[in-house]
Amino acid sequence: MKLDVTALRYLSKDDLRVLTAVEMGMKNHEMVPTTLICSISGLRYGGVDRGLRELHKHKLLHHEQRGYDGYRLTNLGYDYLALAALSKRDSITRIGNRLGVGKEADVYHAETGEGEHVVIKIHRLGRTSFRAVKDKRDYHKHRHSASWLYLSRLAATREYAFLQALHEHEFPVPVPIDCNRHIVVMSLVDGYPLTQIRELGDPAKVCNTLLSVAVRLAEHGLVHCDLNEFNILINDDEEVTVIDFPQMVSTSHLDAQAYFQRDVESLYKFFRHKFGLDEEIQLVEYSEVKRTEPLDVEVEASGFGEKELGEFESAIQTHRGVDQNQEGVEVETDSDKDGDTEAGGESSNRGSGNAPEKSVRNSPDVDRLQGTVAEIN
Ligand code: ADP
Ligand code: MG
Repeated sequence: MKLDVTALRYLSKDDLRVLTAVEMGMKNHEMVPTTLICSISGLRYGGVDRGLRELHKHKLLHHEQRGYDGYRLTNLGYDYLALAALSKRDSITRIGNRLGVGKEADVYHAETGEGEHVVIKIHRLGRTSFRAVKDKRDYHKHRHSASWLYLSRLAATREYAFLQALHEHEFPVPVPIDCNRHIVVMSLVDGYPLTQIRELGDPAKVCNTLLSVAVRLAEHGLVHCDLNEFNILINDDEEVTVIDFPQMVSTSHLDAQAYFQRDVESLYKFFRHKFGLDEEIQLVEYSEVKRTEPLDVEVEASGFGEKELGEFESAIQTHRGVDQNQEGVEVETDSDKDGDTEAGGESSNRGSGNAPEKSVRNSPDVDRLQGTVAEIN
């Protein structure tokens, strides 16, 4: 399954300008009126009108006509803005196949201007079952004050900031390359998700390595909060890489200890059940962890005030709560009607437990890369 970026070829500079104007207008309008798009873009009405028609044709904009005349970005429209910016600075020039689809992100193979194989993670925090949450007033409240656009960007910015800090401190994480809006570019890890692994040469060593990563994170003032077999990649030499960081919290968070224990226990359970480990595992107590070099403060300083963090956490809770309660409910967002990138056509990689063993090899698939993003401008 590819991300269809072919329309990028046909968009003019003015079209992208109109698209950007709609994005800006969405800061305080759910639907952006044409007059506002004209004034933000600084283009004449004729140019804006042509741009709007073109963008609508390619499903980058949704046009609302009932009761209120205005436009808003679709998922694809927002993707295009981020991809155009990343391609302008050569951070990606090609996009390949999809590696994974989760409830909160889509991950694709990509290539940088230097030909390096990387991964782009497109955060889709607003993607949840609209039907499933129809009755939940909280969701609507949230939707209004913190839109999918804002939350997805916040998730990406947060993940990128954590990746940078962790990579600098030599944690086993992908190398952060770039970030724009809701898309993070990072190195492609050559490995399989741990959940797909049937056998390990030395499971006790792998488990202890992972537990020591959890402890080192806590020493640096951080708790991963989703440290399980779905977010750990392992290569043929049994070296691990930890991924998926937007939900990470500071050890000064009220629930940090509970999150830490949940992480450690879920690792412990996984290794015990799947590999029959027991006494070889060195269990760790949160109270014994000494906070040495706080990275949480560094990351918080990079734009995460309490307000952002609060909104972000409750959005994650809402989505996860809904997902857990509504397992198997068909996922449909209101924007699906406009032909946005599909949401939930494939099953989530989170918690399925039935994933085919070693079915996806995370190695570059060069032949099938689709070179289109480079062609804008
Ligand atoms: P989600 O929030 O959707 O769970 P993840 O960051 O866990 O997102 O990524 C989803 C899947 O994409 C992972 O299970 C993994 O298979 C793949 N993936 C993510 N990042 C990388 C990477 N840097 N290298 C290789 N594969 C990756
Ligand atoms: Mg994940």
